[in-house]
Amino acid sequence: MLDILRAGLAALGLDPTKAESLAAFADDVLERNRVMNLTAITEPADFARLHLLDSAALLNMADFSGKRVVDVGTGAGFPGVPLRILRDDFDLTLLDSTGKRIDFLREACASLSLTRVDCVHARAEEFAAAQREHFDIAVSRAVAALPVLCELCLPLVRVGGQFLAMKSARSDEELDAARHAIGTLGGRVVRVTDYEIPDSDVTHRVIVIDKVSPTPAKYPRAFGQIKKKPL
Ligand code: SAM
Repeated sequence: MLDILRAGLAALGLDPTKAESLAAFADDVLERNRVMNLTAITEPADFARLHLLDSAALLNMADFSGKRVVDVGTGAGFPGVPLRILRDDFDLTLLDSTGKRIDFLREACASLSLTRVDCVHARAEEFAAAQREHFDIAVSRAVAALPVLCELCLPLVRVGGQFLAMKSARSDEELDAARHAIGTLGGRVVRVTDYEIPDSDVTHRVIVIDKVSPTPAKYPRAFGQIKKKPL
């Protein structure tokens, strides 16, 4: 795993000396995965590429420096924890609706001595009541289809900030289906970037959505409504 990580980080223009810390986090996830459901990817090389390097690639998609960043539906900590391990110059909130995952992340962040990280157990659509338009950047991977995801994430982003949605490279239809939601919630798609995960034949995509106007007060709705009637 270490060789894959060192080479992958170098290929991404990131610090290869962080490979050990990323591998230590992988050990924590895989160890805990024996007793709770954190990931289906358990083969170390696949874990390195599909979780750690995929997350790391996001650092090349926006300027995180000095920003307030929220990872919505972080699960076992992706992409947020690798971002934190690789860079410590922004404030990070790891948000998930599953308490056991947040408990795990609190322990993992403490054991890795990670700083400027807040682990929050809440549903995104409820968290927005307290933290509306509070973040410079929201990131999210593998949480919901884009029309739903935008209603979970865009209310958290300040005007002038960005939402980075990590998606499959085959997400054209999903993006088209989300255009109405994005506009309604105050967003504008400014970039769609496909990238190859180093040392793999896997191409993923980041959809960059700028927050250009405030999200109307009636959003986000309760999750039942969001899911039943996506914007
Ligand atoms: N982002 C991680 C990744 O890429 O591996 C985890 C993906 S996992 C499939 C989806 C996660 O989103 C779960 O941990 C789930 O609890 C969380 N989630 C789903 N809906 C949510 C919501 N409305 N607010 C916060 N978290 C949510």
